[in-house]
Amino acid sequence: KVGFLPQDIIFDPNIFAVATGIEEHNNYAVDFIEATRWITKNLPHAQVSGGVSNVSFSFRGNNTVREAIHSVFLYHAIRAGMSMGIVNAGQLAVYDDLPEKLKTAVEDVILNRDANATEKLLEVADEFRGDGKQKTEENLEWRDWPVNKRLAHALVKGITAFILEDTELARQAAKRPIEVIEGPLMDGMNVVGDLFGDGKMFLPQVVKSARVMKQAVAYLLPYIEAEKDDSVSRSNGKILMATVKGDVHDIGKNIVGVVLQCNNFEIIDLGVMVPCEKILKTAKEENVDIIGLSGLITPSLDEMVHVAKEMQRLDFHLPLMIGGATTSKAHTAVKIEPGYSNDVTTYVTDASRSVGVASTLVNSALKDGFVKERREEYEQIRIRNKNRRAKAALLSYRDACANQFKAKWADYTPVKPTFLGVRQFNDYPLEELVDYIDWTPFFITWELSGKYPKIFQDKVIGQQARDLFDDAKAMLRKILKEKSLTARGVIGFWPANQVNNDDIEVYTDESRSKVLATLHHLRQQSPQRDNRPNYSLADFIAPKSSGITDYIGGFAVTTGLGAEQICKEYERQHDDYNSIMVKALADRLAEAFAERMHERARKEFWGYAADEHYSNQELIKEAYKGIRPAPGYPACPDHTEKATLFELLDAENNTGISLTDSFAMLPAAAVSGWYFSHPESRYFNVGKINRDQVESQSERKGQPVSELERWLSPNLGY
Ligand code: SAH
Repeated sequence: KVGFLPQDIIFDPNIFAVATGIEEHNNYAVDFIEATRWITKNLPHAQVSGGVSNVSFSFRGNNTVREAIHSVFLYHAIRAGMSMGIVNAGQLAVYDDLPEKLKTAVEDVILNRDANATEKLLEVADEFRGDGKQKTEENLEWRDWPVNKRLAHALVKGITAFILEDTELARQAAKRPIEVIEGPLMDGMNVVGDLFGDGKMFLPQVVKSARVMKQAVAYLLPYIEAEKDDSVSRSNGKILMATVKGDVHDIGKNIVGVVLQCNNFEIIDLGVMVPCEKILKTAKEENVDIIGLSGLITPSLDEMVHVAKEMQRLDFHLPLMIGGATTSKAHTAVKIEPGYSNDVTTYVTDASRSVGVASTLVNSALKDGFVKERREEYEQIRIRNKNRRAKAALLSYRDACANQFKAKWADYTPVKPTFLGVRQFNDYPLEELVDYIDWTPFFITWELSGKYPKIFQDKVIGQQARDLFDDAKAMLRKILKEKSLTARGVIGFWPANQVNNDDIEVYTDESRSKVLATLHHLRQQSPQRDNRPNYSLADFIAPKSSGITDYIGGFAVTTGLGAEQICKEYERQHDDYNSIMVKALADRLAEAFAERMHERARKEFWGYAADEHYSNQELIKEAYKGIRPAPGYPACPDHTEKATLFELLDAENNTGISLTDSFAMLPAAAVSGWYFSHPESRYFNVGKINRDQVESQSERKGQPVSELERWLSPNLGY
């Protein structure tokens, strides 16, 4: 009637999950296939579409089985006339290649040929986990236990395979859905909490347990809401967590959040780059019990001081927890606590400590004692800090410059790079980076400490480390196969000379007549022992007065493009374990990329070490000639210099990495730095500097002293 061509009409019949353990669901796949057959026969030329992955929903967590279900389903649905579908085409198993045992079990489910098909598939499913290879027999005895005990078991073991099915059964058996959470699920989580507290369970396992819990709770939530009962929230307390303004790193914060959730705290995670106003506004609105701040880079320290002072000014009365790589007990005591006296400010070392601290803070019987102890401890730290400062007198900036490192420039000719200017690397092959990964920090991220690969032999954590490594490898394969992360990088080389002791002039070209940029470095000002020089990175570049043509390089690389989307999807599925895994791997790949680019710079692009051959172990130990110091790290602690580096490299355009207000790089999985080629160039710690150096820098850099003091605050020795 309306003139629509029949072939332009697409029917989209529902596809619902089968094998859920609920009998009425058993025919859902058959229903779709029969509907398709009917449409095809009675409505010629019309198309039939379907959202396929729904059908295997109950096997979330077991992709091998899910892919098999999709293949079998499509095989039959297409024969019935299905002409379109939404499915991850890159992840389809080939119907004919499916192992016979799996195929039969799946087919029985899809075609509803056997009343016990679901049970039988569940039995088979566990043999086909992970990479699809048949797994050694797993003990499934626990599947015969009563359902509440099964739930607790799944939680402790972190098994998601049956969680929806078991949660549904428990819900049916319970008087009210909330009882499933308060009963078996909390029982299981308490066991997890105890084992973790006793050091018998480790972080990766806890995060896996949390995943089971979250999936079960997400399943129950609609039922609980349908009851419209508000009396259900019985958490230990509400904690607001945020990475402060200008900072982007959040693995540690997420881990702490997960661990606290496992201990029945309600977490409001505001994510990264959260301005103070938003933190405090949310804290008020949500009436939270504790605020937790996290940060990775040094400018965040100042931001935390600001938040603490604002809490005082706005009359907040709740505990403040401080955590993250850049924070420390000393900084918390010296800088943050003095600004906030209404309640306690406490530094939390790591995730495993967070539970004890948070539980104490919400327990009125324990809190007072804790607060008193903490305040005394921090007062002691402040006194010690003051004394130490008084003792460690700094050299004058002039004397420090006089004691600079003098390379024997007369005997040394810097190598000219093979090109000047920048070179972009788009879509760099991730495969090439895998062998350059330094795995030790990966285990540290998961709070398993030990050197890779020796960690696998560790009596206590070896097994955990191996399991975690297996998961990491599987995720890495998936990332490579699906190309879900993109690596982009840029490197550059420029003619350069040292001027004014601590500056490096970068020139537009070999004529060295036009200055493209000036880099400002900082010099050690503490007295050095054994006739050692007071280093500045500028010392490793030939002075302009020497007439020697020297060069400097720079780089910025990322492997984090795409990470956010993957993590969001995992988080949507209540799967923090895999979300954290992706972030941790992206970080590792970014460091590996920096390592690989540095190697290529030395061998090919700068070419001053064309013949070097180092193993990955040797690269990690920095056996090579030259360094790649990163702005924000001890030898060049001024994060704002990253702005110059990024301009020189046109890094934002060339790589997609941007800088936040605090000069953190976004995406987080990114590394940038300078290349120095001098054989005696080395890493060092600038340490404390005095006001005379800041004044000199202010003149050279054209920035007010007060602004420099803000950026350099961790280094100020006055
Ligand atoms: N294998 C490590 C590599 C990074 S750590 C990993 O995968 O995590 C070493 C890097 O940190 C150096 O290459 C340099 O870029 C930076 N770095 C270390 N010490 C430094 C210092 N004192 N000053 C500046 N940068 C430093």
